[in-house]
Amino acid sequence: MQIPLLDLRLQYAAIKTDVDAAVAEVMASQQFILGPKVEECEKAVAAYCGCRYGVGVSSGSDALIIALMAEGIGPGDEVITTPYTFFATAGAIARLGATPVFVDIDPVTFNLNPHLLAARITPRTRAIIPVHLYGQTGEMDPIMDAARRHNLIVIEDACQAIGAEYKGRRAGSIGHYGCFSFFPSKNLGCFGDGGMVVTNDPVRAAKLVTLRNHGMQPKYYHKMVGGNFRLDALQAAVLTAKLKCLDAWTAARQANAKRYERLFMEAGLVGQRIVLPAVVQDRHVFNQYVIRVSRRDDLMAHLKAAGVGTEIYYPVPLHLQECFARLGGKPGDYPESEKAARETLALPIFPEVTDEQAAYVVQQVKGFFEG
Ligand SMILES: *Cc1c(COP(=O)(O)O)cnc(C)c1O
Repeated sequence: MQIPLLDLRLQYAAIKTDVDAAVAEVMASQQFILGPKVEECEKAVAAYCGCRYGVGVSSGSDALIIALMAEGIGPGDEVITTPYTFFATAGAIARLGATPVFVDIDPVTFNLNPHLLAARITPRTRAIIPVHLYGQTGEMDPIMDAARRHNLIVIEDACQAIGAEYKGRRAGSIGHYGCFSFFPSKNLGCFGDGGMVVTNDPVRAAKLVTLRNHGMQPKYYHKMVGGNFRLDALQAAVLTAKLKCLDAWTAARQANAKRYERLFMEAGLVGQRIVLPAVVQDRHVFNQYVIRVSRRDDLMAHLKAAGVGTEIYYPVPLHLQECFARLGGKPGDYPESEKAARETLALPIFPEVTDEQAAYVVQQVKGFFEG
């Protein structure tokens, strides 16, 4: 049996008629840059996230950059985030000349540990970027409280968490900005790169709109230096068509997680051999299903040989990345992030995984520990 970590062809086959029609419409119009398709997508995604405004951008990475730019964050400023995330979170901070300051994760949720936050706030701190890793929101109340006390901006990196909820509120709608990626492997993916920033603040929304198009307002008059961070009409049309299916896909991911839990329990592996993902917030959307195991690399090789696709998210915490050596990070600085980087393994969780495939994955994991 061959089970890839993600197979988007099955999803496409199911929605081909709708998505192809949406693409054909843009082709017929030959209007590719911004315009009504992008606006329709922005409205739909913002509403889905419980936010007033959505600003389509070129990627999740650019969503983070443009939110930081809108706050004028740059050299001399510090921005707090977690070292256990995709590189783009800290990369956005560094690209603007600001300094990423790391706070270790909670070992249960893999998200920023709010108890460690206060100690890292300095007079230079301008913003916090909590990351809702794997599809579950971070502990937002204490983060928002700290931000209010110290007058900091909160930019949610919700790239993996569209539709996730914290105390009844959607990911991205709690901080000053919510950043989303439509990279194909995210829960809502387009046919290339794309992203969005959501906000409830009309002034911030207007600034984002200007910044994503060279700071141009009106045409050929530039109040600020922005960039080309635009979302394509083609991608927007695909996203609007796909958004209608997102709740069904999320429900399927959640059902797959429940099924893994049952199968791993029945196999007697839980607690003994592996730690399953913990659902502690209202709505975990399972962009990834990540287990912890001690002999992770051996298990990964075993599963690969058995035809099961897995991935390590992420093998090197950001404070130990070569490009951040100047920040002076050392092994041992963020022990929970380093431990997670050694122990975590993502299993196939995409909506179309079948009962038979899930049973096979669990059987192969069992075989590894008993073989
Ligand atoms: C995917 C991702 C990003 C970057 O999104 P792109 O669209 O690939 O630029 C940023 N942060 C996190 C946590 C992500 O998972």
